[in-house]
Amino acid sequence: MSFLDAVASALGDGVLVTDPDIVESYAHDRTTWVQPGAPLAVALPTTTAEVAGVVRTAAAHRVPIVPRGAGSSLCAGSQGIDGALTLSLERMNDVVAIDPVDELVTVEPGVLNAEISEATAPHGLFYPPDPASKAFCSIGGNIATNAGGLCCVKYGVTRDYVRRLEVVLADGTVLETGHDTVKGVAGFDLTGLLVGSEGTLGIVTKATLRLRPVPEGTATMVSFFPTLDAAGRAVAAITASGVTMSLLEIMDQATVCAVDDHTRMGLDRSAAALLLAQSDAPEPLRRTDVERAAGLCDRAGATYSTFTEDPVEADALLQARRLAGPTVEALGEAIWDDVCVPRSRIPDLIGRVQDAAERHDVSIYTFGHAGDGNMHPTLLAPRGDDDARHRALKAFDDIVDASLQLGGVITGEHGVGRIKAPFLEREVGAANLALQRRIKATFDPDGILNPGRWI
Ligand SMILES: Cc1cc2nc3c(=O)[nH]c(=O)nc-3n(C[C@H](O)[C@H](O)[C@H](O)COP(=O)(O)OP(=O)(O)OC[C@H]3O[C@@H](n4cnc5c(N)ncnc54)[C@H](O)[C@@H]3O)c2cc1C
Repeated sequence: MSFLDAVASALGDGVLVTDPDIVESYAHDRTTWVQPGAPLAVALPTTTAEVAGVVRTAAAHRVPIVPRGAGSSLCAGSQGIDGALTLSLERMNDVVAIDPVDELVTVEPGVLNAEISEATAPHGLFYPPDPASKAFCSIGGNIATNAGGLCCVKYGVTRDYVRRLEVVLADGTVLETGHDTVKGVAGFDLTGLLVGSEGTLGIVTKATLRLRPVPEGTATMVSFFPTLDAAGRAVAAITASGVTMSLLEIMDQATVCAVDDHTRMGLDRSAAALLLAQSDAPEPLRRTDVERAAGLCDRAGATYSTFTEDPVEADALLQARRLAGPTVEALGEAIWDDVCVPRSRIPDLIGRVQDAAERHDVSIYTFGHAGDGNMHPTLLAPRGDDDARHRALKAFDDIVDASLQLGGVITGEHGVGRIKAPFLEREVGAANLALQRRIKATFDPDGILNPGRWI
């Protein structure tokens, strides 16, 4: 029996899709500048047993599998691979249980990030890690990439919230890891290992996540700066001051103008940078927090700072930041970088990004999670302009180099995927990478899970 016949017979009707147009649409994720492979077919299972059945069949036929959530990867992590089966978890999208007493939620992997907090809000609880893509990325993808987000500066990243996982391993075994308890130190931390493994060690089919009480309110500050360097100094001053912001984001002039063109919000287009900070501390501390942050911005050279406690105004400002990526993506062929430096080195990184833009004659839109040192310099090439694309890729490499030289890392949250694979050894070293390869071989001896990515 052929592989596809065997998968079809293991699954119910409609689970295996072979229509070429639909299959082609699953070849792509949000990484536009590397060519995807052509998936063999797409499986859309609805239960863990179906996922295990597909994986067992694929293992028997040595057919690779690309696990896929919502396909918003920016590192070519969920792109199709020639001859591989794409296994999408999008139909496993139930919130299984909410435990308000222990502040836990159990979800299937296809639930979108934003849907978790919507479901838990009636209990006064929310799920903190909030990628700018939260409206359209899945929790399975977040777990696989250890996603970060806007409020991670205060609350931490996905790994800090994953208590238990149900995972289908490369031979179809269903593995349970973790515990519901606050503490638990028995054995190796397999949950921690699986978080961020980018679909190369197992397929997440269920997760139990920690929740936090919904803050009573927020105070939000916006500051405009005449130079990027001044904005970088303000970030360093705020983070060193001990003020706990729940969000600290930056956008450079090019990004501000692009977002303003799109939204007509009336942002200060003459400013070299905009800094957005928020505190969700209880009254009256949150107001004091943003006042202190505004004072530090003014001292660093801000031309104008203001703050609001109005949730609608705050939401509009946050929306401007969330729209930064999609707005730049609409302008041409956008090549997102994702690097993270020690927060004290942000001004140096920004300077190095500007140097790379000049050296390679490339437009770079810089925005990101300044409070984490996690920046997304996004390089833009006009569609179809191969020379501009080539120059942008050189600038991309220079920015990753700069991050490493400044004591930073090659990716802060998007993952290694295909695009950062050539840089990984330089960050972690040969011995570390060799051990990671041995771990991969233990989990997946035939290399069928998301092959050709970083490991
Ligand atoms: C406009 C925009 C803004 C973004 N902002 C952020 C941000 O602020 N922070 C951030 O971290 N990222 C951000 N991203 C990147 C992206 O949204 C994240 O990487 C997200 O976690 C991917 O989720 P997904 O469901 O789309 O996963 P996919 O793209 O489908 O997959 C991503 C990776 O996870 C694996 N995977 C998916 N589901 C599973 C599963 N169930 N089991 C095992 N492996 C699986 C895939 O194989 C792949 O390697 C942004 C993207 C866009 C387009």
